Formats: sequence, structure tokens, C-alpha cells
Amino acid sequence: MSGGPTLPQVRRIVTEIPGPKSRVLLERRAKAVSAGLGTTMPIFVSAAGGGVILDVDGNSIIDMGAGIAVVSVGNSADHVVKNVQEQVAAFTHTCFMVAPYEGYVEVCESLNELTPGDHAKKSALFNSGAEALENAVKIARAYTKRDAIVVFEHGYHGRTNLTMAMTAKSMPYKHSFGPFASEVYRMPMAYPYRWIGSSDNCAEEALNEVLQKIEKEIGAENVAAIIIEPIQGEGGFIVPPKGFLPGLAAFAKEHGIVFVADEVQTGFARTGDMFACEDEQVIPDLITTAKGIAGGLPLSGVTGRAEIMDSVHVGGLGGTFGGSPIACAAAIGAIKTIQEENLIGKARRIGEIMLPALTEMKRKYPVIGDVRGRGAMIAIELVLPGTKDPNPAAVSAITKFCQQEGVLVLSAGTYGNVLRFLPPLVMPEDLLLEALEIIEKALASLA
Ligand SMILES: *Cc1c(COP(=O)(O)O)cnc(C)c1O
Repeated sequence: MSGGPTLPQVRRIVTEIPGPKSRVLLERRAKAVSAGLGTTMPIFVSAAGGGVILDVDGNSIIDMGAGIAVVSVGNSADHVVKNVQEQVAAFTHTCFMVAPYEGYVEVCESLNELTPGDHAKKSALFNSGAEALENAVKIARAYTKRDAIVVFEHGYHGRTNLTMAMTAKSMPYKHSFGPFASEVYRMPMAYPYRWIGSSDNCAEEALNEVLQKIEKEIGAENVAAIIIEPIQGEGGFIVPPKGFLPGLAAFAKEHGIVFVADEVQTGFARTGDMFACEDEQVIPDLITTAKGIAGGLPLSGVTGRAEIMDSVHVGGLGGTFGGSPIACAAAIGAIKTIQEENLIGKARRIGEIMLPALTEMKRKYPVIGDVRGRGAMIAIELVLPGTKDPNPAAVSAITKFCQQEGVLVLSAGTYGNVLRFLPPLVMPEDLLLEALEIIEKALASLA
């Protein structure tokens, strides 16, 4: 079965969900695969492309998740497929630290050029987002010769031991997996919808509180890095109000702290800028990237000030597979697609369609407490009507309704009460509107 952009862009349900062939595979899965891995949608995939996923029973499903913000360029995008095929046929692996190849250097050049700031930059490549975060911490500690790492409530940075310590939410990410790495300090997050007091003062009050806590509880001179997602992903698409990120970055600069933007989820055009911190002209010292970087192949990067990136001893960074030639070829194809197809503009357009439509639904359905996000990273936070009490049951009900109607949606949020939308940036507009109609039907069905 071949997928990619030419796959018919339609929503089509021909069996119940899951269909008979998916059911057989789900049984095999249950016998063979660890029960520790969850499933959002109980189907098995046979092909995908543009804005749809085709399952083994012939159902064509609108993809509002993009594999968690990964296939922003669409599944099996033409440039990605072509580059990967050529690379696989030429050579598959030498290990960049053993015998280097051009693709790795080209991806680093692109990252250095595309990330904010016109200072001298360098990059290093790895396999996963968590691995990029681990390495950003290693680099920041080597550069500053300090230990402490500052992270935020509702933050998510991965599932390895150090990144579990950096991640806020216990269940399911950390529960029963400790003890965790030390010298990680969690600060309050500027979360306007849930700020105690007026949301108008959220940026200023949150910033004051964070800076006080850093000074009094850790000591600014002990902090190696402040690490924050410019829009929090797993935490529920929390957009810090204007001023919070620039305030943190200024404080970091003043105290010799490395300011790290974790753009693993927000990066590569997702929010309507190449990187989300551009929205407030914040220039991070280091940026971590992964998810949307390579059209679905496993690749991640740390990019930043040359003097910071070069402060590590030779041989201190690396890994067997990091920056695989195949993943680098895919990244070069994905970046070309983002530029050729103006996916930054398309992400903005998706936001221009979704935000007003969902805001209108908020007026009709009081179960929606908040609508937020930027570009093609949009969420609704669901509450018990008339309160701000989290309503995870409504998220489950809507998710299930959408699945039966052939729309894949993802949940998020510390309280499990956020529906998040991360469509591929190449999503056809009519399909996006159709998905919004189904979401509205799901909301109406709750009443
Ligand atoms: C997904 C994510 C990670 C972890 O990436 P993996 O590739 O799953 O290890 C880290 N940070 C953020 C912001 C993420 O969204």
C-alpha cells in the first residue's frame, strides 16, 4: 500500500472502529507487546499521507495529531521519501563519530541558520527529544560548571531518567519509576487560565515568583540552565502570556545561566513561526528540536551559541545512531518541504480557521473552559460547566466519539482535560473543516 500526498484526501468509514482486521492485530499486539504502551486509537495503519491515515480495514481517518506533531510535512512527503530512498541505497550507517558524512553537517548548517539569532551557532544531533534534552543539560553544565536545572510546572521533557525528573506529571510518566536525578528544580508556570488572581497580571506575578524562588531557594549563581517549552505541549498547550519568556531570558543572561528553549513540539513551523520563541523575539542560548524535524524519522538536535556548544571536551557528546544518515536525509527533505510549500503560512492559516471556530463553540458549549494555542498547535480545555474543575471524562467521551466518526484527536494536560489539535500542516482545508464539524457534533453529544 503506498501512502504519501497522493492518498485520497477523504474521511471514509467502512467498518466499525476497530474493524475486523484491526481487531486481529490488536489481539496479536496484546500477546506480544508490553502492556506498558498505551493506544490512543485502536486501529492499525496501512498507509498515510496529507491529512489522512488509512487503516487495514480500509477506513480513511482525518489525522488531527500528526503522530504527535511529527509529520508536519505529511506522511511520506515526496522530498522525504526520495532523499531516504537514495540514502538507503548509498549507505545506511557508518556512525558520524567514526566516519562522517555530508548530510549530518548539512542538517547542522540548516539548524544554525533557521534558529533565532544571528550569532555564531553550532549543533549536535541525536535520536529522540529526550536525548536532546539530556545533552542540552550536559552542555549547559559543562559550560557553566554549575549543577542546578530549572524547569516548570506542567513541563514535559521526556521519559529517560533525567528527563523524567524534568517532567512535571507523575502519572503516567514517572509513577513507580524513581528515584529520579537530583538538582532539578520546578518553578511555577505562567498559566493564565488557572492563575490565582487576575490573568491580566499572570506574566508579571509568575515571573516575580519564579525569580524570587530561583534567587532564594537555589541561588542564581548555582543554576546551569533554565529550560522551558515556549508553548507547553503535553502539559496542555499552555501559552505563557507576553513578557514571561523574555523576562526569564533576561534574568538568565544577567546571571550567566544558559536559557534553553525546548522546541521539540513547537518547532519547525508548527506554531506559525519556524520556532515558537520567535513570537516574542526571544533568542535562546540553546534550542532543542526533534518531532517535526525529519518527516517521521528519528532525529533530534541541540543548537546554540558556538562558545557554549564548543565548551564540551572532544568525545563528550555523541551516540551510535545519533544523526543517522537516513534521518539526516529525511530532515533535509522535510526542511525543503517546509520552505517550498510555505508551511509556516499554512500553520498560521490553520490557526486562523481553528481559533475562531473553537471560540464560537466555547460560546455554545460551556464544557469548554478555554481555547488557546498558536498556528497549528491549538487546544481546548474542558471543565465542568460553570466551574474551572477539570473534566477529563468529557475528553474521553469526545475522543471516542471522534474516533467512531473517523477523526483522530489527542488529549493532553496535567489534569487530563485538554483536547489538543496538531494537524499535519499540509492538511487540506476542507478536511480541517470536516474535522471541526465532527468535534462540534461530539460536544453536542455530551449534553
Ligand atoms: C515529545 C517531547 C519531548 C521528548 O521527545 P521524545 O522524542 O519523545 O523523547 C521533549 N520535549 C518536548 C517539549 C516534547 O514535546
